[in-house]
Amino acid sequence: MVETIAFIGLGNMGGPMAANLVKAGFRVQGFDRAAASLEAAAKTGIAICKTLAEAVAGAGTVITMLPSGKHVLSVWTELAGIVKAGTLLIDCSTIDVESARKAHGLFSGDSFRSLDAPVSGGTGGAAAGTLTFMVGGTQGAFERGEPILQSMGKRIVHCGDAGAGQAAKICNNMILGITMAGVGEAFVLAEKLGLSHQALFDVASTSSGQCWSITTYCPVPGPVPNSPANNDYRPGFATALMLKDLKLAQEAALAAGASTPLGSQAAQLYGLFDKLGHGGEDFSAIIKFFREAEG
Ligand code: NAD
Repeated sequence: MVETIAFIGLGNMGGPMAANLVKAGFRVQGFDRAAASLEAAAKTGIAICKTLAEAVAGAGTVITMLPSGKHVLSVWTELAGIVKAGTLLIDCSTIDVESARKAHGLFSGDSFRSLDAPVSGGTGGAAAGTLTFMVGGTQGAFERGEPILQSMGKRIVHCGDAGAGQAAKICNNMILGITMAGVGEAFVLAEKLGLSHQALFDVASTSSGQCWSITTYCPVPGPVPNSPANNDYRPGFATALMLKDLKLAQEAALAAGASTPLGSQAAQLYGLFDKLGHGGEDFSAIIKFFREAEG
């Protein structure tokens, strides 16, 4: 029998992820509160539902892909009153660790299983089915969810118990925000010193300064032909989304009593860059901030 999955939140990420579940042979019942998201989803074979209750009817698994922790808690609270015993709940949104743990707590009994499973890979990875999933939850919940996640991604990592997926996601993105700011700063210094972009790339990409922010996402046009810098800094991964993740990392650090001075500095830098009107540009455009700061 074909397994039915309810998919809530069919936006830029959820729409293509749900479409890949359809391609993998699942029946997908979709719900979103925005008409535009529903219209796009209908074209990919998703059965469109008018209410949350309609979407979860007959579904053994419910997946949510929503903007933030408050959206997830509101939807999961509603779900707690309507899903049948035995249901697996998976939240793929990027949200704060505390809300993720609260969401798990809504389904803590023996009758349900739940996972936090945020992703990396962006809209390109969502469409291609090549996302990385960072998963938190019990071993039993992970074993049940893994084959479903495999239909939407290429790497599924069980990071630990409830909230561990979100913790891994924000730690990873804090590294990314810090390294991209550092790489941007270094390229601007190189410009001032009369060193060509290509020369710095050739050295740093094969030396101890090597990192993803240089080799895959180099913030200057030229050395890495596919990086957003060659496409007028179109995202990719928008500055506003990087800022969201850096703020989540700062909230988590505060709650856990961790010292993250570089993460804090990166959150401030991307915050200022966003305020200057660059929120819709790829986060690698942060290099412009250092040039603008030069005047
Ligand atoms: P989006 O805004 O395109 O989609 C969110 C969808 O949720 C919208 O269609 C909205 O109408 C719907 N929604 C909101 N509240 C709802 C509710 N109560 N009931 C039903 N539907 C509701 O956002 P997105 O880019 O798809 O991102 C979703 C999540 O994935 C976010 O947490 C984001 O941080 C994360 N993420 C995004 C990217 C990216 O590149 N876009 C990459 C990795 C992770």
